[in-house]
Amino acid sequence: MKTTIYICPVCWQELTEDATRAVCPRGHAFDRAKEGYFNLLLSERGGVHGDNRDMILSRKRFLERGYYDGISARVCEHVVAHMPQGGVLLDEGAGEGFYTARMADALETVGREAQLFAFDISKDAVKLASRRSKMLRTAVAGIYHMPVATESVDVAVNLFAPLAAEETHRVLRAGGIFLLAVPEREHLFSLKEVLYDTPYKNTVADEALAGFSLLSTEEIRYEATVDGQEALIDLLRMTPYGYRTPRAGWERLMSYERLRIPVHIRLFIYKKV
Ligand SMILES: [Zn+2]
Repeated sequence: MKTTIYICPVCWQELTEDATRAVCPRGHAFDRAKEGYFNLLLSERGGVHGDNRDMILSRKRFLERGYYDGISARVCEHVVAHMPQGGVLLDEGAGEGFYTARMADALETVGREAQLFAFDISKDAVKLASRRSKMLRTAVAGIYHMPVATESVDVAVNLFAPLAAEETHRVLRAGGIFLLAVPEREHLFSLKEVLYDTPYKNTVADEALAGFSLLSTEEIRYEATVDGQEALIDLLRMTPYGYRTPRAGWERLMSYERLRIPVHIRLFIYKKV
């Protein structure tokens, strides 16, 4: 039996896990899927949650072509800078685990031992994340009621997932770090200019979070050339614009062989006070 920061989603008591399942003291049991993850989402029978499989596969292909390596490199630098030896990292809304696996590699490269937990509400995404790295301890779970023990996490990471600041505050240890990434004003603006008659720029949310002090904030900004129609379709599908875009927008995008896009992200580094 191994301890985990995941807790029982029924009674919120601690879980212990072995090769086949996780159980709580009251006997609620969760089978481990063959890919290695636990499904801790109680409402699963209600239908499909989170991104669908096509969106997830598009994101996986797009990210693996390297267009967002400038983001993952900087995120990994921050994780290495803040992660204590033997610490616990939680990637909230980790999707198919692209960034989490990069963090695992970066920590391993500097000889930092760590436990990396990653969850997402989409089971299809979690399956892919589980296969991506044996280092990741994965679960299907929602971000607004995380089945994660209180004060169990040293570094929490939220890359473009919905923000659940109170839950993040609860699961972090005193002095723990929260790394948040959000799209900045110009992010993907040239794509929106192709898709829409009146494109708008992103607005960046208020940086103050209750219970946290802001240690630093920075912009990541560069341009990338998305090359080929398959990559352009993947880009559109992985964004929220995919299902919002009218047919005329898709057709305009398909008249391009490649598109120069601005990548423009803001990182916030918070400390739990
Ligand atoms: Zn229980």
